[in-house]
Amino acid sequence: MIIVFLGPPGSGKGTQAALLAVRRNWAHLSTGELLRAARTGGTPLGQKVAQYLDAGRLVPDELVTGLVVERVKPGPAGGYLLDGFPRNLAQAADLDQLARAAGHVVQAVVFFDVPEPELIRRLSGRARADDDPDTIRRRLRVYAEETSPLVDHYASRDLLRRVEGRGEIDAIHRRVLTALGERA
Ligand code: AMP
Repeated sequence: MIIVFLGPPGSGKGTQAALLAVRRNWAHLSTGELLRAARTGGTPLGQKVAQYLDAGRLVPDELVTGLVVERVKPGPAGGYLLDGFPRNLAQAADLDQLARAAGHVVQAVVFFDVPEPELIRRLSGRARADDDPDTIRRRLRVYAEETSPLVDHYASRDLLRRVEGRGEIDAIHRRVLTALGERA
């Protein structure tokens, strides 16, 4: 079983994925976290990744898909929360393929709906290297151009669950549970 958490940078998908992962005892796979970890290694791969992270651009698909493939194990046990993957239509196709290969299905895609001014406010208050004003603008543009088409893509497959992403963390967590048909 796989659930995808989709949303713009600053939409809270990472926070919410972590909460649901604990509740369900599922694996939480954040490609952003994995990439940031790769970068601190200082390896040639890490240096390559750093260039994309610092510029607020997407890391090449084959590299990111590889990180996910390595971690999604075959078998019926447990489930996976994908946080930050897929981020474009090519990665969505990769996900279908890797899910099929491992015998999993994408059960739902939870989309965190947050208006842009609120995203900018939240990202500006964060202290990460990819949160400076230019990079924030770039990341929002990359989201709009490359990632936002996934909303329609998954809606047309009837997998999209839209969640209002403004408000308290606990309240949003309850909305996620409701969206997934679980009692809060
Ligand atoms: P996040 O923590 O999800 O906001 O991701 C931080 C950064 O990691 C993004 O701005 C991208 O540079 C990179 N990244 C994370 N996930 C992906 C992905 N699925 N494909 C390409 N780049 C990614």
